[in-house]
Amino acid sequence: MRQPVIAGNWKMFKLLDDAVQTVLALKPLVANANHCEVVIAPGFVVLKTVADRLEGSNIRIAGQDCATQNDFGAHTGEVAPSMLKDIGCSHVIIGHSERRQFYCETDDNVNKKVRAALQAGLTAIVCVGEMLSQREAGHAEAVVETQLNGGLGGLTVADLKRIIIAYEPVWAIGTGKTATPEQAQEMHGYIRSKLAESHGSEAADSISILYGGSVKPENIADLMVQPDVDGALVGGACLDPVSFSQIVNYR
Ligand code: PEP
Repeated sequence: MRQPVIAGNWKMFKLLDDAVQTVLALKPLVANANHCEVVIAPGFVVLKTVADRLEGSNIRIAGQDCATQNDFGAHTGEVAPSMLKDIGCSHVIIGHSERRQFYCETDDNVNKKVRAALQAGLTAIVCVGEMLSQREAGHAEAVVETQLNGGLGGLTVADLKRIIIAYEPVWAIGTGKTATPEQAQEMHGYIRSKLAESHGSEAADSISILYGGSVKPENIADLMVQPDVDGALVGGACLDPVSFSQIVNYR
């Protein structure tokens, strides 16, 4: 049985005071959510404060990105996975489409970041997903397969136990256009079949595959009934504690 995961990506939103108010409001709203793991990914500079405010709660904390290594050194602007772990993170998002599109993230870098994250004891939420033009050209599955092979290359079956995949079609992120539950299921099933080929069916059956792309309180339940949809990575709708809690409490 895979435990559902509902993760919220705050992206580059919220100053410190807003971040604290948001988590203080969110905590009681999701306190009884025993059916799923709840994760939020605030901006780097508020992570420690948020982690302190959530100590003892059922909300886990994620970084939105990390460096490709844990060795301290001259890497201006980078944040090592071990630093995230040190201040209370349990997860880190890697390979988000915004980083791929606008910050030169490559599959090779994703792979290095995943390895560094696992080495630091974090769970890596690895994002994959095609652009609209790629879907329209009939290349959606090939694009996702390349991202999976690149991002997870060389990882063992044991490594996969601390990996979560987030399928986020780029055309559905922040656009209000959600993939239909059938489109999501189709790609999630494909991803699981590819993982079964690379790591065996037991590992593939155990891994959580989240859907991301305009998830809202109104569409989460229809997505979650799909057999291979194990949760959601939520952007816009996670910024408000009430709407995020409604997504968490989808059933
Ligand atoms: C995301 O950024 O991962 C995301 C899915 O955003 P949104 O929910 O706003 O589409």
